[in-house]
Parts: sequence; C-alpha cells; structure tokens
Amino acid sequence: MKYISTRGPAARGKGDAAASGAKPFCDILLEGLAPDGGLAVPQAYPRLDAADLRRLRPLGYRDLAFEILSLYIDDIAPADLRAIVDPTYTKATFRSDDITPLKLLEPGLALLQLSHGPTLAFKDVAMQLLGNLFEHVLGRRGESLNILGATSGDTGSAAEYAMRGKKNVRVFMLSPLGKMSPFQAAQMYSLQDPNIFNIAVRGVFDEAQDIVKAVSNDLDFKAKYRIGSVNSINWARLVAQVVYYFKGYFAATKGEGEEVSFSVPTGNFGNIFAGYIARRMGLPVRRLVLATNENNVLEEFFDSGAYRVRKSSEVFETSSPSMDISKASNFERYMHDIVGGDGARVRELWAQVDHSGQFDLAGTPLFERVRASGFVAGHSTHSDRVATIRDIEARFGYVVDTHTADGIKVGLAHREPGVPLVCLETALAAKFDAAVREAVGRSPDRPAGYENIERLPQRCEVMDADAEAIKAFIAARVS
Ligand SMILES: *Cc1c(COP(=O)(O)O)cnc(C)c1O
Repeated sequence: MKYISTRGPAARGKGDAAASGAKPFCDILLEGLAPDGGLAVPQAYPRLDAADLRRLRPLGYRDLAFEILSLYIDDIAPADLRAIVDPTYTKATFRSDDITPLKLLEPGLALLQLSHGPTLAFKDVAMQLLGNLFEHVLGRRGESLNILGATSGDTGSAAEYAMRGKKNVRVFMLSPLGKMSPFQAAQMYSLQDPNIFNIAVRGVFDEAQDIVKAVSNDLDFKAKYRIGSVNSINWARLVAQVVYYFKGYFAATKGEGEEVSFSVPTGNFGNIFAGYIARRMGLPVRRLVLATNENNVLEEFFDSGAYRVRKSSEVFETSSPSMDISKASNFERYMHDIVGGDGARVRELWAQVDHSGQFDLAGTPLFERVRASGFVAGHSTHSDRVATIRDIEARFGYVVDTHTADGIKVGLAHREPGVPLVCLETALAAKFDAAVREAVGRSPDRPAGYENIERLPQRCEVMDADAEAIKAFIAARVS
C-alpha cells in the first residue's frame, strides 16, 4: 500500500511509484500537508468481499483494528503493529472492552458510543492510536517530534492525553485564555506530564491558530525544532476511525448483506469520510447521513453541488462548537475520489476555491457521482439540539450531547423503514453542561473519576498572542 497526494501528478493506479511520488505509510504519518499542498490518500482503497466480512464479523475490537489497519499499513511488521494496537484499545483506556459499544435505543435505532475514551469525545479513538504509532516510528528512526497545535477544546485535549508520557514527543498546545469551558480547561491544564506544555494565549482561538501557522511557515524554525502537528488531516486518524464503522455495522446486523445507515455530526469531514472509506471498501452501508449545525457548508454542497467556504467572520459560534468550521479539510480527499484520482482536476478545483472561495458542480457528471456516493445531508439548529436532547431523554432515559443531538435530529429525518440507523455518539453529555441543563433542567452525569476535575491543580503558561514569544518558549524547552 502506497500513498499519493490528492494534488499529485499521476492518476491513481497508473504509473509507477517513483513517477507519482508514492510513499509508504510511515513517511506520510509524520508529514502534514504533502509538499504540493495536497493530502495523502492511498493509491487504491482495498476491497473486501462477503467472505472477508464473514471472517471479520466475530472479531473483538483489537483484532478487528489489527485486520483493518494491516490493509493500510504494510511498512510496520505485523508483530509490531499488534504491539501498537493491543495496548491502545483496552478497557482501562476506553472503559469498555467493546471500545465503541452499540447502545440500542429501540429496534432499528442505535447509538454507536465513540466517547468512552479519556477526554470523553470520539477523537480519542484515533488519537490514542496516533500516540503509539508516533512513538514507534520516531523510536525506530531515532527522531523526535514537537507537536504544535491550537485548540478550542476537544482536539487539543485528545492529543495531549494520547501523547502524555510518550518518548521522543513533546506537545505545545495553544488555547484561548478563558474561552474554554471550565471542564475542558481542567482536562488539559491538570496534566502534569513533563512532555506536555499548555500555553493559554491572551486572545481568541483564531489568534492562537494564526500563531501556529506563523511558526509553521518559518521553515528554518520548523526544521530546526522538528515541529509537527496532529490535526484532522492526518491520514492515520482516518484509518483508525474506519475500524469503528465495521464494529458498529457488525453490532447492528446479524446476517450477510444487511444494510445499515450511519448518521454523523460533521465538522472537518473526518469522521464521516472514514464511513465513506468503509463503504468504499465494501461494507454494506446504505446511507451516510451528514449532519451539520448552523455552519452548513457541507449540507449546501451535497444538496446543490456548490462548495462555498466561509470566511472565519461568517462562522457562527454554536452550542455544538466542534462543528463550527468554515472549510472542511478532509473534503479534498473525497473530491479526489470523485474525480477518479485525477490530481490535476483537484488542483483546478482548489485553485477556484483559493481564488473565489467556491466551486460549483451543479449539472455536471461529477455531481451525478456525488449523488451516487451514499451521502444525504441536513442541518440542525440550537433549538433542534435542545429539543432532541429532551426528546431522547424522555423516550429512552438517556442524555446525549449537543453534537450527537445534531446527528440524531438529521438522522431521524432520513430514517428508512427496515434499515437500521446507527447514530454516532461523538461526545458525552458531561462535556456540554450548559446546553444539557437548558434541555433537561439538570446537569449531565459525569463518569467516575471526572467528578472533581475542576479542582485538580493546574499547570499552564499564560502568554501574549505573539509568535516570536511562543517560538522562544519552545526553543528554550527543546534541546
Ligand atoms: C471533532 C468533533 C466533531 C466533528 O468531527 P469531524 O471529523 O471534524 O467531522 C463532532 N463532534 C465532536 C464532539 C467533535 O469533537
């Protein structure tokens, strides 16, 4: 299995590896954007047939993860990959040996619970694996990496919990001072591991993000201090997410060929794109229901064919904040598949986005392909979220978070008789106290061990939104 760039020269499947610049998994693992500005994708998606699915169906999470990952990772020896996967997906880390249990709400309607990891959100499922992959590959190469990121909440904490205590890895995470929920701040700032550095920036999230860009654009600094990232364009995160679509599918069906639809609350198009990959591999997924909040760039695309990114000033702040995005990074990988792996065509489309903020496929054969690719879309608003949380609590006695509520609301609107609908639970309600209180009049329950997290001692550096000062901070801590 080799990887090429979405903007690369050779069409997928054609030309030899050297001509297309194809790289093995471990090379793209540590790379952010490809040198041509594109994203890494496999040269072809592996196909599984009915016999393969029969063989995978009874497997537990670790074995299933090993099987799926092996299809995409062939430059780590099988025994080593086992030794990475097995300690990643444990009951100790995910509070359940199923890792991503399926909770049946009623016949034909279930939640796939992805949020039992350390930070109570689905990003843990991929990030925990990434931490162990990084440690392995860096160790093998005798290299080290300093991860620099900015977070408004979920991604940063998932990254820190995955990288804490890992050899050869440090994390420098910028967060906007005073802008996260007390729970989110406590989760990050209470980490005492010496390889984790929390920097609370006096400013808003965008300013923190701009500093990360400024530092990454200083190529000398970036090389000298081995600066890397763990953002949502990382390919390994996607593959790790493909696993739970298989797990969820097997848990929701009994027999061969049965179809399932998945409903997914979507921001950067990472989670649902993993579902698309699973479908592409031959998993019998009927529909991928894409749910946005008020920031509905992707709903607009799947409805009309027009992909119109927003300016950051046009992004609404909502009560499902992890979906407040202006452009969906992983969407380029999907379009690369839709244009049949034609990197030149992807370059053209993204040149249009850079130039005019949009492209429009309406009325073209490409939009026919989009229509045939399994997606249906919808959006949900704050009042929908609140009503959905209340309704699910009243009917099933279970409290969901705001993001999951977006997915349920849109999923139910597209539910079909006879097709099980699996809604992905992407965070626990405990993380979003205010909206949950508004819906059901009380605070959500917290899992054991998180009751007093706000009272733990905190460790974080408060700094101005000044890229030079942040560079000096990093330089002083990296030898
Ligand atoms: C990140 C996140 C999302 C959006 O996932 P994408 O992969 O960016 O589409 C949805 N819900 C929660 C709770 C998240 O943290």
